[in-house]
Amino acid sequence: MVELNGVNKWYGSFHVLRDINLKVQRGEKIVICGPSGSGKSTLIRCINCLEEHQEGEIIVDNTVLTRDLKNIEKVRREVGMVFQQFNLFPHLTVLENCTLAPIWVRKQPRKKAEKLAMEYLERVRIPDQANKYPGQLSGGQQQRVAIARSLCMNPEVMLFDEPTSALDPEMIKEVLDVMTELAYEGMTMLCVTHEMGFAKTVADRMIFMDEGQIIEEATPGVFFDNPQSERTRQFLGQIL
Ligand code: ADP
Ligand code: MG
Repeated sequence: MVELNGVNKWYGSFHVLRDINLKVQRGEKIVICGPSGSGKSTLIRCINCLEEHQEGEIIVDNTVLTRDLKNIEKVRREVGMVFQQFNLFPHLTVLENCTLAPIWVRKQPRKKAEKLAMEYLERVRIPDQANKYPGQLSGGQQQRVAIARSLCMNPEVMLFDEPTSALDPEMIKEVLDVMTELAYEGMTMLCVTHEMGFAKTVADRMIFMDEGQIIEEATPGVFFDNPQSERTRQFLGQIL
């Protein structure tokens, strides 16, 4: 579903991604962790064409990412993304946030888009908030809207970049529960998160990044109980 071969990226002279190789099968759940500044967000953003890489190859559902606009549009349709800061449109209601892209990008009739949006809002357990504005919701509710909004585009892959890091502790679980359900339904997921309980339940594979490199890649069992790299051990020691 997603494949990265020898991917390198620089910001100016700063080498932010170093020779990244990664294959994600359809339905697989990958959790990526690592210290701040290690390149996790950059990696995720490259998969969604929000950033350009300079070397190597990224393939999403058989499409090789290039700068070709057609290509970028296709990939963006297939790849849903949820950010730390929700990124909802503040001047649109919850329902309008969820129907905007289906109506304008997917050319769905409004009625159909609204029906589908309500189904997803029910799945994330906030159908009653449909006519409110993002500013009237809690952080946890806003993040669930962001997830529902992504799902309305019927993505093949979901990317999560620290979706619970901006939330108060009591709201983290409600977002993780929704993500866990999505995982059990078979969605292909790449999640940057330090929620290790979630990782242990859901991840097929753990990836640890440091200084732009993948340092370790293992099943959760091996990763948490018997990490191979000293840097992984140190990191886990700090966060667990
Ligand atoms: P992480 O998500 O693991 O915290 P990021 O991918 O956000 O790491 O950033 C990796 C490194 O790249 C950091 O040192 C960061 O300062 C740098 N960086 C991120 N975005 C940019 C940018 N647009 N321009 C220059 N440097 C950047
Ligand atoms: Mg980040």
